Amino acid sequence: MFNKSITSLKGVGPKRAQLFEKLGVFDIDALFYFYPRSYIDLSNPLSPLEAPIDTPCAIKATVATPVKESRIRKGMTLYKFTAVEDGVTLKITIFNNKFLAQKVKENEEYIFYGSASAGLATREMSSPEIFKSHNSYIRPIYHATSGLSSYVIESTVKSALEYADKLADPIPEDIRLKYRLPDIADAIRNIHFPKSQAQLKSAKRRLMFQEMLTLQCGLQYFGRGNKQNSAAKFSSDFSAEFESMLPFALTNAQKRAISQAVEDMQSSSRMNRMLQGDVGSGKTAVAASLCYTACKNGYQSAVMAPTEILAEQHYSSFKALFDSTGLRVSLLTGSTPASAKREILTSLSNGEIDILIGTHAIISNAVEFKNLALVITDEQHRFGVKQRTALTKKAEAPHVLVMSATPIPRTLALIIYGDLDLSVLDEMPAGRKAVETRLINAEKRDLAFDFISKQIKRGRQAFIVCPLIEDNESDLISATRYFDNLKKTCLAESRLGLLHGKMSAKEKEETMKRFSNGEIDVLVSTTVVEVGVDVPNASVMMIEGADRFGLSQLHQLRGRVGRGGYRSYCILVSDTQNEVTLKRLNVMCDTNDGFVIAEADLKTRGPGSFFGERQHGLPALKLSDLVEDINALQFAQDIAKSIIKRDASLSLDEHKNLRECVEKMFGEFNGSLN
Ligand code: ADP
Ligand code: MG
Repeated sequence: MFNKSITSLKGVGPKRAQLFEKLGVFDIDALFYFYPRSYIDLSNPLSPLEAPIDTPCAIKATVATPVKESRIRKGMTLYKFTAVEDGVTLKITIFNNKFLAQKVKENEEYIFYGSASAGLATREMSSPEIFKSHNSYIRPIYHATSGLSSYVIESTVKSALEYADKLADPIPEDIRLKYRLPDIADAIRNIHFPKSQAQLKSAKRRLMFQEMLTLQCGLQYFGRGNKQNSAAKFSSDFSAEFESMLPFALTNAQKRAISQAVEDMQSSSRMNRMLQGDVGSGKTAVAASLCYTACKNGYQSAVMAPTEILAEQHYSSFKALFDSTGLRVSLLTGSTPASAKREILTSLSNGEIDILIGTHAIISNAVEFKNLALVITDEQHRFGVKQRTALTKKAEAPHVLVMSATPIPRTLALIIYGDLDLSVLDEMPAGRKAVETRLINAEKRDLAFDFISKQIKRGRQAFIVCPLIEDNESDLISATRYFDNLKKTCLAESRLGLLHGKMSAKEKEETMKRFSNGEIDVLVSTTVVEVGVDVPNASVMMIEGADRFGLSQLHQLRGRVGRGGYRSYCILVSDTQNEVTLKRLNVMCDTNDGFVIAEADLKTRGPGSFFGERQHGLPALKLSDLVEDINALQFAQDIAKSIIKRDASLSLDEHKNLRECVEKMFGEFNGSLN
């Protein structure tokens, strides 16, 4: 590849080059890969009669009247004229653009691009783009920036194309020929200036494949580090001993996950595994079992959770399990008092603490372990790659288990976490019943309160979740105000509790504790209860403003109930009239299967519903959509695997260009990707 500055192109001086830099284009190579964001297809202009209504299209017609100017008010001038083709009239109106209006000449033929509306035996178009009729090609439209129009970019690309033949082709030739992909020069020419839709399609297909192949090769290539030898090879398996201490029998899925992980940790390479399981499938017991085996082999473990409440809950369940074993479990969060923290840090570094549980506080620099060998991240998608990696840096090549309750569709998981081994808890602990789910509107709210009050009389408890705490958004129900209003309903006699993000960690913990001890009947909260909190006696989850949540989030919330063998209910409250939203919410009523819900979420909201912005840690893709193009991605992954299998370091001559491409794409992630 060549890193020739774009100032070597005709018409590009330092000033213009600076504008290009704003768009991320630093050299000619980058300019080639600065793809149009869309196209205007002028190649087959229609007659006014053929033009579809209200759909952007190109209409060819000859201007039949002079342009008439009319000032309708200050600052608003209209220019009107008509154009005719095959006896059908196209009425054109231009707003305020004198420059454009002056260019239009009577009796000349033009192509008008825009959306036409239907008049009486005529067509009408407002503010079309206007082209001389001999310019009938597929025009690229670029993301422009102030001072640099799409048109200028277009002509700059055009003049750069004389160098296209010098482009290095990242796709190895045998693969390119085998799958009949155009070469790189043709693909670049045709993605900018296609002569037909077929040519454009073929160019896109090839460049998309190139992008996916680069991504997948990168994942495989940088993922090699994961296969590295482990510093801690466990000699014995203590999972049977652990199971005998549990008050319940493990599910087969739990046993399988544990033995897969233990096998990893007994081999000579480090474990790098994802544990996926729906809410309530019992991931904690799996994690605890692995920590037990690690400790019994003489090593320390760490468990990181995304919120303090969740860390605290893990801590208390671990403590209950391990109390009689003599193993020492400690909790470290942002609100651990300084003196206690100092003590923990000392005991950690001299090995007195066996298991450290905490929030991201445990990745801070001050935290040093004596011989950490197992790191577990719960709800891993809530952490950025950097935070997850930071935890693994606390030891030399520790075994890694990441846990996720967001059932990512398997295909997507394999592609995004292609370098992780996968264990799935696809079986719920015995006796767990589906949570009955209803969607109601606000008018029925009192009925819901009645229902909750009856449940409380039977000894159960309920969650009510409100989307926001702020009072300033009047259309939203704030948890505090909601809480006050609740005292005027039939729930007034129940013991009510309030939990929201603005309370101190201590207050939150106390409230949560009172709820889980059964001292509170109804807990009104914002979404802080979302992750992992476990209160087996709770049987109702009522969610206000349900339409504001994604399905996966609702499913997580619903998973807070039905954990204790009581028949449980989820009430979704929404006043939305939007049919798509209603359909989406009804998925919740129809199924309790997290994977079905995940698929539905994926379809309506895209992968963003699973990963916060860029949290999957992948480089941005220009052409491909991880969800839409999943089959193509799978295909690229297969090819990438075969390439890496043959040439793990991409050092063969035929892979030289591909390797450069990979390094460019992963540049900023280099080394930190694992
Ligand atoms: P999650 O996968 O959502 O993290 P948890 O680990 O919190 O689920 O487990 C949910 C509940 O199920 C806990 O109360 C836990 O004690 C219980 N549990 C876990 N495994 C089993 C099992 N095999 N049999 C019965 N109950 C179980
Ligand atoms: Mg959990």
